[in-house]
Amino acid sequence: MIEFKGVHKVYDNGTKALKDVNLRIDKGEFVFIVGASGAGKSTFLKLIMREEVANAGEVIVNDFKLSKLKRREIPYLRRTMGIVFQDFRLINNMNVFDNVAFAMRVPYILGLVGLQNKARNYPMELSGGEQQRVGLARALVNNPALIIADEPTGNIDPELSYEIVELLNEINRRGTTVLMVTHERDLVRMFNRRVIEIREGCVVSDSTQGGDAQ
Ligand code: ADP
Repeated sequence: MIEFKGVHKVYDNGTKALKDVNLRIDKGEFVFIVGASGAGKSTFLKLIMREEVANAGEVIVNDFKLSKLKRREIPYLRRTMGIVFQDFRLINNMNVFDNVAFAMRVPYILGLVGLQNKARNYPMELSGGEQQRVGLARALVNNPALIIADEPTGNIDPELSYEIVELLNEINRRGTTVLMVTHERDLVRMFNRRVIEIREGCVVSDSTQGGDAQ
């Protein structure tokens, strides 16, 4: 599903954002990525989404070898993943149904995230938690093998954050791999899942390998 082999990422200004990252995330896992601001979490996600390219090593995602991926092949990679953003990124002049769009699976997905009664509402008529459920629904609509959630609870009330992660858990139980970046330790503690901690560009602990990221 996801494999990092000796991955280094250095930005043009010389910042070493990731240093020799080696890890494997298998199909069906649920993984929290934690770490302080600037640790390298976004860089890690950007390499998986092929928004950035590694300077050394190999990243393999859903059978795509990213060092060899041509620009025109990137859409095929992206189609295998759904992405949930911290700031929702909904289109405000489209209602919920149209935001999730591409009909067919829309009613099923809206039911899954508990929004069947909000289909014709606009984002500004929804709470932050509901808006993020639309974001999640949109990420699911193409039935991706992998969901990447970049601080999905960063802009919603703490009491609703649990619901969003519970929803991601339910999606994971149905077979989708989930990768969630967060710095909310309490939330991580509530769900007993694999935790990878990144510090200054290095993976410093991985709970499946006896580490303790709590
Ligand atoms: P996190 O998501 O954990 O906050 P990032 O992956 O965004 O961390 O950043 C890791 C390091 O790389 C930081 O030192 C950050 O300043 C630097 N960085 C991130 N993006 C860029 C960029 N486009 N150009 C230069 N440095 C960057």
